[in-house]
Amino acid sequence: MSEFLPFSRPSIDEATIASVAETLRSGWITSGPKVQEFEKQLSEYFGGRPVRTFNSGTCTMEIALRIAGIGHGDEVITTPISWVATANVILEVGATPVFADVDPVTRNIDLDKVEAAITPRTKAIIPVYLAGKPVDMDRLYKIAARHKLRVVEDAAQAIGSTWQGKPIGSFGDFVSFSFQANKNITTSEGGCLVLNNAEEATLAEKYRLQGVTRSGYDGIEVDVLGGKFNMTDIAAAIGLGQFAQLNVITAQRRKLARHYFATLGKDFEVQTGAQLPPADFENTNWHLFQIVLPERITRADFMARMKDKNIGIGYHYAPIHLFKLYRALGFKEGMFPIAERVGRQIVSLPMFAAMNESDVERTCVAMCEVLKN
Ligand SMILES: *Cc1c(COP(=O)(O)O)cnc(C)c1O
Repeated sequence: MSEFLPFSRPSIDEATIASVAETLRSGWITSGPKVQEFEKQLSEYFGGRPVRTFNSGTCTMEIALRIAGIGHGDEVITTPISWVATANVILEVGATPVFADVDPVTRNIDLDKVEAAITPRTKAIIPVYLAGKPVDMDRLYKIAARHKLRVVEDAAQAIGSTWQGKPIGSFGDFVSFSFQANKNITTSEGGCLVLNNAEEATLAEKYRLQGVTRSGYDGIEVDVLGGKFNMTDIAAAIGLGQFAQLNVITAQRRKLARHYFATLGKDFEVQTGAQLPPADFENTNWHLFQIVLPERITRADFMARMKDKNIGIGYHYAPIHLFKLYRALGFKEGMFPIAERVGRQIVSLPMFAAMNESDVERTCVAMCEVLKN
């Protein structure tokens, strides 16, 4: 039987490994020249907007909310279908998470439901680009402008994705990316935040390192409460090597996604009752290739039977509002029915840049066997 195919695996090239070794030997292993270089290159990619790096894509969002002055008494609207980090950061700053159900086709937050959820206390929206697929960005920013809301884009999965030819992150309000190990490009753990101006960038620097600013010729000052969220040069060295591969990685993922569609064929949905992702090859970076299973098979059963065929299946995500922490806040079953159905039946097929077309074919054959009997 063929080797186990995981649903995701990072591809780190030899040049990157050499650069990490060089950093380790350099005597400077925490935040330093590699972080500065990484931030400079990211900023160029994001059209010259200020960018700061952090040690996760979670703290990036928390810091964005802090910079926006969001806290107690404020409501922030987000999607129930995301990694729990997206809603946790809202609680972390003392604000109230408000969920809006998802669109059954894109599986992203439904902007009609966002509008319906806006109250006088709403201060921000955190949209998530599941699998790297952006929401309707024009409409998102129209809603934000009309209601004077800040936007913290959870673009954790969306590096390399675009909107009308422009990279996600090169426009908009706060845009947060993750470089966690499974993301399209990684620093092992890490993230970056695209900001609007130098003032916000200075605040981001304070929040990431104990609120410290350098002032005077030899002094430091502390005037806000910051934490410890800085990226190391070891991580930035990985990030620089990965960032150089971004276009190649995105192109390979798009090619694999096209191959999934071609291999499954146009009758796949009718024959199996499963639902494919939207075939978006213009904007999406194909961070994940997700299908929604028909109700007659449980996800656990599907995953176990695929594992028996040596294929790793992931799932992204269980609906956030049904976790105990959120139930304790009053959320319950039935509140977001589309998210609940999608969250119960969604699976992520193998998708990573080092995969080849025969891996796609093997996955499709195995999946069709499992779904057809
Ligand atoms: C990965 C991810 C995060 C969290 O990023 P970390 O770097 O792991 O903190 C948040 N939201 C989404 C949608 C993600 O995929």
